[in-house]
Amino acid sequence: MILHKKIKIIILSAVVISSVAFVPIKKYGDKYERVRQRMVREQIVARGIKDQKVIQAMLDVPRHLFVPENQERMAYEDRPLPIGEGQTISQPYIVALMTETLDLDESMSVLEIGTGSGYQAAILSEIVKEVYTIEILESLAIKAKNTLSALGYTNISFKIGDGYLGWEEKAPFDAIIVTCAPSNIPKPLEKQLKEGGRMIIPLGGSITQELVLIEKRKGKLIRKEVSSVRFVPMVRNDGKRY
Ligand code: SAH
Repeated sequence: MILHKKIKIIILSAVVISSVAFVPIKKYGDKYERVRQRMVREQIVARGIKDQKVIQAMLDVPRHLFVPENQERMAYEDRPLPIGEGQTISQPYIVALMTETLDLDESMSVLEIGTGSGYQAAILSEIVKEVYTIEILESLAIKAKNTLSALGYTNISFKIGDGYLGWEEKAPFDAIIVTCAPSNIPKPLEKQLKEGGRMIIPLGGSITQELVLIEKRKGKLIRKEVSSVRFVPMVRNDGKRY
């Protein structure tokens, strides 16, 4: 009888454990899992993000590993955070919104301007085939590359340089995401966007900008304003703003 009961408990707990294992977040199994789930629920899903691929990527990528160690505990808060060199990692919701707006799938090749911490590149990498990312500040680019390789991402290519010019040899891109703000659309990026492709870019002043979705149709650019945002400026090698 007791044995029977024991077996029953074992079977029951096996069922519970296997259903827990199906919670899709298991990938990195870290101490921030719960906090990350809450971030996704309260900041991402509650605000209307619906693309399951984006939601899954936000659940899977350990955001706390992309911020300086002394900021780790704030990594899942509803705000951008400093990552050194006067630069920031975007607020989680903005990362999700920009990614969803691009309407990505696993066949695509995407260009990112402004690698920063590498967090946005990781999110993209989970969803698309190839990610190309450009960062103008060498120290950030190296750090991001180290973080991403340590996590095992293999479909991200890095370039240190001026992202205004894009990445001619790898063009055209299905989508382009610009995470620093110029005042106008960089011409080279416009050229490197595939016919039918989408670009998301903050455009405007040095403090606040409008997040704009650009679609290339029959060689023409169609613009749609998405939201008001604050990004760090897109700069030239001499530090002056584009
Ligand atoms: N996507 C990043 C956030 C980027 S912050 C993340 O997920 O963490 C914007 C970044 O754009 C900064 O790192 C800044 O150095 C970079 N940047 C500014 N001007 C640039 C340019 N012309 N080319 C490439 N990167 C640029």
